[in-house]
Amino acid sequence: MRIEIAKHAGYCYGVERALTLAKTAALSRTTPIRTLGPIIHNPQVVDSLVEMGVTPVETINEVGEGTVIIRTHGVDPQVIVDARRRGLKVVDATCPFVAKAQRRAAALKQEGYAVVIVGERNHPEVEGVLAYVNGNALVVEKASDISNLKEKRVGVVVQTTQSIENLRKIVLQLLARSIDIKVYNTICNATSQRQVAARELANRADAMVVVGGKNSANTTRLAQICREKNGRTFHIETADELVVEWFEHCNLVGLTAGASTPDWILKEVEERLASQ
Ligand code: SF4
Repeated sequence: MRIEIAKHAGYCYGVERALTLAKTAALSRTTPIRTLGPIIHNPQVVDSLVEMGVTPVETINEVGEGTVIIRTHGVDPQVIVDARRRGLKVVDATCPFVAKAQRRAAALKQEGYAVVIVGERNHPEVEGVLAYVNGNALVVEKASDISNLKEKRVGVVVQTTQSIENLRKIVLQLLARSIDIKVYNTICNATSQRQVAARELANRADAMVVVGGKNSANTTRLAQICREKNGRTFHIETADELVVEWFEHCNLVGLTAGASTPDWILKEVEERLASQ
């Protein structure tokens, strides 16, 4: 059985940057260090940071002193203002691509467009972008969600981890009902590259293994994309979840990983597969 890793897989620029910022803060720590929510959607990485003294909290109300790290997904800008007002040191690890989506949304609102955010309603990144337009935007997950939209001037931004196919379907629907449309494709490069590479590999492989947090939007999307091309797609977090029977009669097993999956977990999965 041959194992092939997708051309683009694993850690992206934004995650590496956030982890470097967190580890640097941990090394120089004299006061408690907290992350607002898990710094990335990967439980194994979050656990290893806890060992270094970087612990997640739900809100800044839980932080009395020290440093608070804003994760890659970004937050409501008011949260940063409040944290500084409380005397906390803020390390802003918002991914620059997420920050771009936040700025684009604010600009669209200022230009008078009705803002549409293509993304998952309850995802922290989308909640953050929504805050940049004071909550005045329609969040759409799929094309049918725009059926109640009345506005004729519509500006679109996209959750960075969405698939281009979903964006395309939604924009097509919008074209049919709006007069003036401005679309900022804020899907990030790392996401697109991982999706294209995963799709191509899933097409050729007998089975696909997608490695990454079950709570990770970009990993879940990779698994969906692979599943559309290959019914034998399995989403796991660690090598321990592999089941020998999944790979019966397989000549080629494809392997990919979300942008928040560290290399060492991917390597472990590859080695475990090779030993089967
Ligand atoms: S997937 Fe893209 S937007 Fe998200 S953290 Fe990585 S580089 Fe940034």
